[in-house]
Amino acid sequence: MIDIKNYNKDNVFGKILRKEIPSDVVYETEEIYAFKDINPQAPIHVVIIPKKEFCSFDDFSRSSGEKTILEMIRSISIIADILELKKGYRIISNIGDFGGQEVPHFHIHMLGGKRLGKIVAP
Ligand code: 5GP
Repeated sequence: MIDIKNYNKDNVFGKILRKEIPSDVVYETEEIYAFKDINPQAPIHVVIIPKKEFCSFDDFSRSSGEKTILEMIRSISIIADILELKKGYRIISNIGDFGGQEVPHFHIHMLGGKRLGKIVAP
């Protein structure tokens, strides 16, 4: 079971941040890193992560400083402009087991490039 309270450095996004495994960067600031998802669920599928260590959006919401929150939220519209998602897009953050989270480093999925279906499968 995924631990959303205690950060585990041995997760794949931690490895991406440490450049131990490669990633296809889309946008980067002092606080955040955005890269293409390895298994895209839409024509455009980007993952946006803070460089600081948070287990989930829940952890981030409780504990993050203002600069990180600002850059994380601002990055969404900046990346939408970079990727020319003029017709809209979806952001999702899975939290914990019931939320379907697999990687225990807080991330926001950004999906676009086509009209997306319902938010939750029946
Ligand atoms: P979660 O289910 O935790 O919300 O999403 C984890 C996401 O990380 C999945 O969409 C998965 O495809 C992506 N992912 C897992 N391993 C890697 C990797 O090594 N590189 C990249 N770019 N994405 C990954």
